[in-house]
Amino acid sequence: MRLADIAKHRARSDAGEPVHFHSESTHIQLDERLTIEEQLRHALARDELTPHYQPKVDIATGKVTGFEVLLRWHNPVLGAVPPDRFIPIAEQTGLIVPIGTWVLRTACAQAGRWAREHGIATRIAVNLSIRQFYQKDLLQVIAAALADADLAPQALELEITESIAMSRVDVVERVLGGIRDLGVELSIDDFGTGYSSLAYLKRFPVQRLKIDRAFVRDLGRDADSAAIVASVVALGHGLQMRIVAEGVETEAQLALLRALGCDEYQGYLFARPMGAAAVPPLLLASGP
Ligand code: C2E
Ligand code: CA
Ligand code: CA
Ligand code: CA
Repeated sequence: MRLADIAKHRARSDAGEPVHFHSESTHIQLDERLTIEEQLRHALARDELTPHYQPKVDIATGKVTGFEVLLRWHNPVLGAVPPDRFIPIAEQTGLIVPIGTWVLRTACAQAGRWAREHGIATRIAVNLSIRQFYQKDLLQVIAAALADADLAPQALELEITESIAMSRVDVVERVLGGIRDLGVELSIDDFGTGYSSLAYLKRFPVQRLKIDRAFVRDLGRDADSAAIVASVVALGHGLQMRIVAEGVETEAQLALLRALGCDEYQGYLFARPMGAAAVPPLLLASGP
């Protein structure tokens, strides 16, 4: 059974009803969907998208190690639309390719300015959708974003989901290898929710595994989640990867993650995603 099935099985028996991890978009009414699609086509040109930044924290030292870049969309017709609503539509329509390039370039430019104006050396982690992964000129797009921002490649990390494991192994190895050759870091996002085979994982040149927040949420409530986290930590550390837990909301969860050997965490407990202006004060306050 894959990890996601174990979690679903457990969540179902907890709540007495089925839990859906991937089918959010099927519940969106057709007209709302079409409105989102129509509005999304103009969102970039109308400057309606804003990257926000959520800190990742080293569990041992309490220091901020970097920031995940999370897109926010405010549209005059729809109001604030959460990424879980519009990202799947952007992926289905292909709009994620120009939007993803824009996020990458904007976040790199921002990190370059933080470095020059505030002397801040931090790492930003940008989500890369599978559609972008297949973009022919992806490596050039990444290289240009870094060069134009005057940003060191080590200051950039890309988060990819396990769904890349559904692709041909030679393609995955070539693209991930190319990204690593640029000096950019890689993490596997939402680990445990997809269909990746563990044998496949060791062939990925990946520095970090991010444990999905579904497992973190249930930590302390049931023994299964702790067992799953413990095995992901053992697996990742065996492959020389760092383990990042996402969606950490309570001190109790953090204490368990620390005890289970997790390296970094991210979540509302430390900070919610924030606008760019809030980042330098946060870093300067938290020390070098
Ligand atoms: P993700 O990559 O798994 O991002 C983590 C999500 O967890 C974010 O949701 C973040 O705001 C939320 N989160 C962080 N800490 C906590 C916590 O303590 N509790 C809870 N309940 N949630 C927490 P968000 O910002 O709504 O983004 C949702 C998803 O949309 C992301 O999931 C990612 O898959 C996608 N996304 C967002 N921005 C981008 C982007 O620029 N490009 C791509 N391709 N996808 C994006
Ligand atoms: Ca992510
Ligand atoms: Ca995630
Ligand atoms: Ca997620």
